[in-house]
Amino acid sequence: MTSGNCIFCKIASGAVPALKVFESDDAVAFLDISPLAPGHTLLIPKSHYRDLIDVPEDVLARLTSHLPKLAGAVLRVTGATGLNLLQNTGESSGQAVFHVHFHLIPRVADDRLGFRWNAGAYSPGEDKAIQAALRAALAGA
Ligand code: 5GP
Ligand code: ZN
Repeated sequence: MTSGNCIFCKIASGAVPALKVFESDDAVAFLDISPLAPGHTLLIPKSHYRDLIDVPEDVLARLTSHLPKLAGAVLRVTGATGLNLLQNTGESSGQAVFHVHFHLIPRVADDRLGFRWNAGAYSPGEDKAIQAALRAALAGA
């Protein structure tokens, strides 16, 4: 399944060039065109799914099975000492390409990319209310 106007579908099919680093029957990994660090890599399924909610479990399971070897290669080749795995779902998260993907972002100490977001705090009882709502939502899911 592909989506006509999707840039990542076009990269997966070869219609649009990309610096591919890995390809399997169902997945492609390639260098991000605007890297946060050298070696910033994107992993996508060849089939078009919009985001983490849309993608079927089995497709996601196969896709993520490629992450360990990909992460290891990115670390070895870039000499990075760490790596952030990032998945944006929804426009408010920063998702710009609506074909599900994972970012592998190589990290070194003091690279000034930052990773500590501004953490908040729960008001009294709010955490337990959210826990109960989530448990109810997930019961039998
Ligand atoms: P998002 O914000 O959707 O999680 O990330 C989309 C990523 O795709 C961005 O980091 C952006 O630089 C990358 N990107 C967008 N268009 C292209 C393209 O045509 N080729 C490549 N290689 N990367 C792209
Ligand atoms: Zn697509």
